[in-house]
Amino acid sequence: MPYVTVQSVARNHLLDIAMQRWDRILERRPDLKPAVDLQQRLLTLVIELAHTIDGGRLPRLSLPPKYIATKLTRGVPVFAGEPIPLPVQALHGVMLRLCGTLAEGGAGEPAEHIRSAIESGSLEARSLLAASLAREQAAIRTAAVHRGLAPDLVWLVAELAVSPFAHALQRAFFASPAPSEQGDRPRLASSPAEGRTAAPALATWNRGYCPACGSWPALAEVVGGHRVLRCSFCALAWELATYACIYCGEDAEPFVTAAPEEERKDRRVEICKGCAGYLKTVDVPELSPFPLLAIADLETMDLDLAAMERGYTRPSLKDSFQP
Ligand SMILES: [Zn+2]
Ligand SMILES: [Zn+2]
Repeated sequence: MPYVTVQSVARNHLLDIAMQRWDRILERRPDLKPAVDLQQRLLTLVIELAHTIDGGRLPRLSLPPKYIATKLTRGVPVFAGEPIPLPVQALHGVMLRLCGTLAEGGAGEPAEHIRSAIESGSLEARSLLAASLAREQAAIRTAAVHRGLAPDLVWLVAELAVSPFAHALQRAFFASPAPSEQGDRPRLASSPAEGRTAAPALATWNRGYCPACGSWPALAEVVGGHRVLRCSFCALAWELATYACIYCGEDAEPFVTAAPEEERKDRRVEICKGCAGYLKTVDVPELSPFPLLAIADLETMDLDLAAMERGYTRPSLKDSFQP
């Protein structure tokens, strides 16, 4: 059952959970205060935008089930190559605010330059957003460098702005429990949402990258023994049928799962000597709702360091998919 449902969480409850998690990070690592403060401001903007998007007309991607099944069988994520209309107006304003927040939070002038470029239209919002949704890292880099802008920062601004839309699209497409105002906690569903969704087409998906958008997972959250991969962009949750390196499929000796801290076996890194990739794996009581995976990433920064010190990396995005 590779598709895993993450229950929706009402906005206020989402912020409460986020605040608790940030507080816990600061208890252990007060030195991370600037990073936590910046993340708090960025995610607040993302959560607001997600609320606006969820309140509006959700994007509909109506693709024939057979077509989707064929695509997935060939390893092509669902969004790849589909003309998907973006709410450019709403996202444009958010990108400007994200640039301002990043500038104040330490990114300084490079972030101001991006804001000016978007404002003046020299960096065209529509194509930037579309390229981000299509995960076209090389195209965004080229466009940024060409205009004297910091490529990683341009990528980040666009990614943060488009992510609520990608998440809404993913949920509408695969399985979308109605957003609850009761403040339901995220949970691991025992079965994929049935009937009305594309979830059944996912039954055969056994790849390490996201079947919706093609991104690699930020990490794996393990709930009740289920190792659930969590997309770093659209927050999709999926499980693989095999326990192997998510990047190259290695499942023998070169693939090792280790806990860098002896007394914290609940926080692990899967490392692969075959491809030099690593994946963070943490035991959690519940799956993180969107967009709190960014916090999960920050909580586990020490695992990144431990893996990188040993020469392991998170590979860059896969090259664009041919649908
Ligand atoms: Zn995704
Ligand atoms: Zn590998």
